[in-house]
Parts: sequence; structure tokens; C-alpha cells
Amino acid sequence: MENLIELDKRHFIHPTSSIQQQQKDGAKVIMEKGEGIYLTDTNGNVYIDAMSSLWNVNIGHGREELAEVAAQQLKKLAFSSAFSTFSHEPAIKLAEKIATISPTGLNAVFFTSGGSESNDSAIKLVRHYWKIQGKPGRRKIIALKRGYHGVAAASTSVTGIPEFWGMAGHMMIDFIHAESPYGGNTEKAIASLRQVIEDEGPENIAAFLVEPVQGAGGVLIPPADYFKEVRKLCDEYEILFIADEIITGFGRTGKMFGMENWGATPDLMTFAKGVTSGYIPLGGVVVSDHIHNVLKEKSKGTLFHGFTYSGHPTAAAVALKNIEIIEHENLIENSRKMGEVLLKSFKMVKENLDIVGDVRTIGLLGAVELVQNPVTNKRFAQELNVAPRVIEALYERGVICRPVTFNGTDIICFAPPIVIDNEQINTLVEKLYDSVLSVQKQLGVT
Ligand code: PLP
Repeated sequence: MENLIELDKRHFIHPTSSIQQQQKDGAKVIMEKGEGIYLTDTNGNVYIDAMSSLWNVNIGHGREELAEVAAQQLKKLAFSSAFSTFSHEPAIKLAEKIATISPTGLNAVFFTSGGSESNDSAIKLVRHYWKIQGKPGRRKIIALKRGYHGVAAASTSVTGIPEFWGMAGHMMIDFIHAESPYGGNTEKAIASLRQVIEDEGPENIAAFLVEPVQGAGGVLIPPADYFKEVRKLCDEYEILFIADEIITGFGRTGKMFGMENWGATPDLMTFAKGVTSGYIPLGGVVVSDHIHNVLKEKSKGTLFHGFTYSGHPTAAAVALKNIEIIEHENLIENSRKMGEVLLKSFKMVKENLDIVGDVRTIGLLGAVELVQNPVTNKRFAQELNVAPRVIEALYERGVICRPVTFNGTDIICFAPPIVIDNEQINTLVEKLYDSVLSVQKQLGVT
């Protein structure tokens, strides 16, 4: 273990980490195995993976079936190209499966290796779409403040959390951010979106890209009428509507895809994470029949956009098995039901503690906000580090969760594997209660 920590410090640049801190302290935990909702580290400590690791291990850890399917496919045809006119059965079958479960009218899939590549691909696709439609001026992409869409060139730029723009110096041009409906006001958020469209000129706008629920922004669940209004606005200005379903897809919100909760149909949908439950990297973009037809009819020559691993046969085989498990084990229904149980338990925690503000869930995507005054919603001073302290207290009790502190918020996010049961939720929420209570006491709130 010591040796691993030394090697880690010396050679491994961790994603989304403080290099300085990593150099000083090294890895805090080295995971060794996983089963169901649990992870075990090299010291034998067991943790509840209350975030499904990175919002992705939807069916939980350690499913033998996925390992078996991967092994079979690796032995038969581990990899071959899907470029140009080459193809293979797993990718064809997965494309068909995804078309079947996607919203009506979205039936063609472009594959990638993950979420960022999917959003970059969607952005390039919509710009290409407008170009071949004779409107090359439609290049701008609108997104929301607090949205997170990845770290590749365009997906960083479309992200609405300025902290993520730092590494590149500044954002690429032609990406604009409107107000998020965070706080529950559709009218204000739609007015902001309309204003941005008017200011930028609808004739310059290619698409609006949005998460059904802003995940990394703090599990911000829009009001019930928000996406119907978004759809109307996009139609009014002829702007394409892209749903980033990278967290919300594959059962996370109690539906196959998050947008189903709002009854709104996007023109394009990006996915990744839950499509394979993280067992192997895979992502993609699903496009509407209309866009597919335009691409087929009007694209001239080769579309120079494709990743080596677009439609990777082994990844596709694992995704097919993963979706089969989600369907056969009724995990979407479990996500919806357990999400309700989680919300009830969060409400009890709120009633019995003094620093819990809004609590919310949609399926098994949830959040608990910590505030100085739950009546006025007054926030804590950022230097008190309230959410990170609760996360640390949870970790000490064997729960891995994620804090969101952007813009002075203290939010604890939850996205446990959608196989979680009632009893496991009770244990998780007991540990949450104890953790918040301990921080509440440290803060001198009695
Ligand atoms: N979009 C959303 C909503 C995400 O949450 C993420 C990752 O967390 C991404 C895109 C980027 O995906 P990836 O990290 O696979 O590139």
C-alpha cells in the first residue's frame, strides 16, 4: 500500500485534482474491489458508493455478466474499425437498441468513448447541419450557467461553471450562458434564455444544449413546465435542442432518459456513463430522423469526424448487456421507488436538524443543501467549508459523496447505484444524519 502511494505521487496526474495536494499527501484511498453499492479499499475498509463513483455505475459494482460478455467479445473480436463502410455486430445491435429506447423520432446514433466527446460531437454535428442547410452563420451554442458538459474543447466552453474554464486560459468563442432555473422560476429562466437569443441574434444560433438535471452544478431539478417552454422557444427561433443525458440517462432519474420526466423531446441527445454503468468507456449522440435525413441528403464527401473507438465492439457488447440488466431487473422502477424513499428520509433529516435547507430527489439523483438559516435560505460563509466538512464526516463513516460549493452553495449530491434497496438507503441516511449533526455541533449550532 505504501509503495502504491509513493508510485501514485510520483507518476499519476489525477483527473480533477489538486496536484499540489496530491504531491504533499498522496492518494487518500486506493480502491481494490466493488460489489453492489459497496467499494472496498486496500486496507479492507468498506464504503457505500453513494455517487455511483462518477454518477455512472448505475447497476452497481461487480456484475459478473458484464465481465463475461466483455471476455467473450475480447476473444472473438476485441476491436475492429467502424470507419467508413466497415461495421460489426455489437455496434449495429447497440445502435438499434438505443434507437428503440430513445424518445420517439430519435433513431440514429454516432458513438464516442465518453461524455465530453459526445458533447463536442453534438456541437460539431449541429454546426455541420446548419452549414449544409445553407445557414453557416448559425454557429453559436447557448447553454446554462451551472451546467457541466465535460472537458474537451467545446464541452469545456459550453460548461457554465467558470472554474472549469481556467486551464485553457479562456473559453472558445460562440458559447453563451443563460440563467439556470435553479430556485424554481421557469418564467425568469425562460426570459433569460429569450434575452440571450435576442441579444445574440437567432440567425447566429445553432443549438441550446442543456442537462435535464444539472448534476455537477448541484443536482438542480428544473420546474415541471421548464422544458416544455424550452421546446417552444427553440421551435419559435428554429434553434436545435440538445439534451445532455450523460448523468440522467439509463434509469438514473426513474425514467430511461431524464427528459421523459418533462415530456419534452430534444432534437439530439448525448449519452455516456450509465450506458455501460462505467464498466468500459462508451458514449454517443442520438439524432432526430430529420437531422439524420438532412445529413444523408446534403452532406458532401467524407464527414471528417470519428474517434478510433467510435462503436468499439467490446464496449458495445458490454452496453447491450448492461441495458438488458436494467430492463430485466426493473431497475428504472427501483430508481423511481427508491428515489421516493430517499426523499422521505431526507425530509426527516431536515426536520430534525437545523442547517438543512432544500432537499430534493428525482429517481436516484438527489441533493441536500446546507444553509445557515433554512427559513430565509441564508447561506454559510464559504470559508466555513460546510459541505466539504460534511463530506469528510460521511467519509469517516464509510460513505463516499460529493460536495458542490460553486457560487457560495453548500450542496451534498447523491447518485447511488440504482440497485440500492430500502435498508441500504436507511443506513446511508443514518450516516448522513450523524455527519450533518457532527458538523452542526462544530459550527456551534445547537
Ligand atoms: N455531461 C455531463 C452532464 C456530465 O456530468 C459529464 C461528466 O461528469 C460529462 C458531460 C463529461 O463526461 P466525461 O467525463 O465522460 O467526458
